[in-house]
Amino acid sequence: LFVRSPLSEGASVELDAGQANYLGNVMRLGAGAELLVFDGKSGEWLARIADADKKRMTLSVERQTREAETIPDVWLAFAPVKRTQTDWLIEKATELGVARLLPVMTQRTVAERVKLERLQAIAIEASEQCGRTIVPNVSEPVSLSRFLADRDEERALYFADENGGAAAAASFKPGPSTILTGPEGGFTDGERALVRAAPNSVAISLGPRILRAETAALAAIAAYMTTAGDWR
Ligand code: SAM
Repeated sequence: LFVRSPLSEGASVELDAGQANYLGNVMRLGAGAELLVFDGKSGEWLARIADADKKRMTLSVERQTREAETIPDVWLAFAPVKRTQTDWLIEKATELGVARLLPVMTQRTVAERVKLERLQAIAIEASEQCGRTIVPNVSEPVSLSRFLADRDEERALYFADENGGAAAAASFKPGPSTILTGPEGGFTDGERALVRAAPNSVAISLGPRILRAETAALAAIAAYMTTAGDWR
């Protein structure tokens, strides 16, 4: 269970009404029951329900059961797509192990408004489901030009280019990395030139077929994890 307050031995954690309702009324857990909790940063902890009524629940944190995971320092910068596909992408990228998710608005991005809170909630839920202890942060959307201007040039930029590049799996190197994928309509020629010219940027190909934007993002993350990430 994900909790918003920082966890430590002996800490007391107040759950929100939704979580209290879920644990009390759906899972039928009451005072004395044990559960595993994580705050997205400090690993996993064993906690006990100290106090519960219909709308409120307090946990008492007993001991750490797992250290925070170490995850590869790989971020996904992606052009948001339609809502359901973006939700799917956030969920799957979290399961595959990315450290951070950055929505990047390109000229051909035709996403409905990006609702950050909703995307962050999906990342939390996916982290719970797959046993992650670190929740990837979903950043405020930025324009492609702002993304390029603000980025740390030491961080490798792997740019998924449907017009061709080096084979993805042969390109990735361990170390701080960002994978950048485009929208349904692809990058414009101008954007492509800008990204290719950016320092420490490598154009990668994900094969001879044109993949849907969300498929491309996942294929790239999977290739990264198997060659430079923590599935090696
Ligand atoms: N409208 C574009 C076209 O027909 O050429 C296709 C864009 S594709 C649906 C969306 C994004 O996925 C691209 O901008 C790129 O980042 C990525 N992508 C899709 N297929 C790819 C491939 N074979 N290699 C590298 N990137 C790919």
